[in-house]
Amino acid sequence: MVRVAGRGAEEVAAAARERTDVPVVDVGSTGVPGVEPLVVATDDGRSAFYANATPDDAESVASVIGEPTRALPDADATVTHDETGALPVPDLDGFSGSRSVLARCGWLRPASADDYAESVGFTDAAADEVVDAAGGVLGRGWGDWNADEPAGALWEGVRDRDGSPAVVVNAHGNPGDALLAESDPFAVLEGAAHVARVVDAVQVFVYVSETDERARDTLEAAAAAYPDFPTDVAVVEGPSAYRAAEPTMAIEAVEGNHRLEARLRPPGPEVEGVFGEPTVVHTARTFAHVAGAVRGDDTSTRVLSVTGDTQDVTVELGETDTVRSAVEASGATDYTGVLVGGRFGGLTRKLDVAPTPIALDERDLGTDGVLEVLGSDACPVAFVGRRSQFAADSNCGRCVPCREGSTQLSELLRDIYDGEFNEAKITELLRVMESTSICAFGRNAPRPVRTGLREFRDHFEAHANGECPSGQCLVDADAEAETEAEAATL
Ligand code: SF4
Repeated sequence: MVRVAGRGAEEVAAAARERTDVPVVDVGSTGVPGVEPLVVATDDGRSAFYANATPDDAESVASVIGEPTRALPDADATVTHDETGALPVPDLDGFSGSRSVLARCGWLRPASADDYAESVGFTDAAADEVVDAAGGVLGRGWGDWNADEPAGALWEGVRDRDGSPAVVVNAHGNPGDALLAESDPFAVLEGAAHVARVVDAVQVFVYVSETDERARDTLEAAAAAYPDFPTDVAVVEGPSAYRAAEPTMAIEAVEGNHRLEARLRPPGPEVEGVFGEPTVVHTARTFAHVAGAVRGDDTSTRVLSVTGDTQDVTVELGETDTVRSAVEASGATDYTGVLVGGRFGGLTRKLDVAPTPIALDERDLGTDGVLEVLGSDACPVAFVGRRSQFAADSNCGRCVPCREGSTQLSELLRDIYDGEFNEAKITELLRVMESTSICAFGRNAPRPVRTGLREFRDHFEAHANGECPSGQCLVDADAEAETEAEAATL
């Protein structure tokens, strides 16, 4: 068989089909877009990998696969394996660690129920078995109502209430959630089916960003092909704004509201969720881990996506790994720092930290599963200033600490460039935002500045003295002055 993985796979696969009778299939992304389209030729327990394959490469591979007398072209990596239901991890840049929840990404046809059934099979577990096996799975990501808490506690809260419960699969915004939605949607839906049975739900909503068409289409196709799903399933789009992933804003979007604001709490969604009914909200990652737990897989692993000034990559790490290995998998070797834990994660240079919630929390880092690399010439002061401005521009406006606080914070950070570094005022503002904002957006928004101040104090002091150690702000200022001068002459 020949598999072609990732974006651009269709054209490459079509070329291969021209030259062989061997099956050629498009599969989802592996999570390593830097090597895709990736052609994988599998024959007799051995898979040969061809990175960044062109249609010509695919034709060459296809023309000889299955021909006992002709050798495959030299591959970028080769793996001998018994396992046929999961991607054999190649020794290629970007692949790191073992894969449990990502195991089928880049190996199965995403919308093929037959592929999934052959690979791991659909597990038909009773509600009590699901609670026993998966109740301890921790919610993954800020879009999960039980982020970093046992998912089973939320299920109990919903199950104990009267009403017509709903389940929301929040696949909005996080690259790891998007990868699972695009490449292994049946695992996500299987986890949702398990939870729907536990809480006796009447409806499952799958929530995606309106810009993530591939995830939407794949989830819709998988939902239609899912054998005996226990409820109706609706795939619902929401605006692409970062804040729209917040669990109560996800509920607002599912209900069809155009103006997305976080809901006051209590009560939480377990009491009043979609259309006032008790509702479970987990991310796609959490549901995929739930499905894994029910079939007996290791669920302690974490899916981490690396972005920023490096190659995008999504990997899976064990509890004894460190986030450094994820950053290294992206190819980044020389960097100013890394924002660990999402858009409002913690800025650090010390990456010898396990990807677990406890270890990350001890270091004041975020747990959203995204690592943003700041390149070697990036200025941390400018970076946290931009992130603060992002919070000011994109909050929902519902509560004063976040709405006004993020604006004031941006102004205080700009004052540093004018020589006024009022650290006490900044610190107090961060404390108020964090402790009194309604939702996780405002509570987390101070973290890049707080951790940046701790890790890069010398840079803040230098800026107050008119210097930028990275030189980047001076470059930006010069460019701005040149632009203004040019504009004045027109
Ligand atoms: S914290 Fe920010 S995003 Fe959340 S409700 Fe308040 S203003 Fe809206």
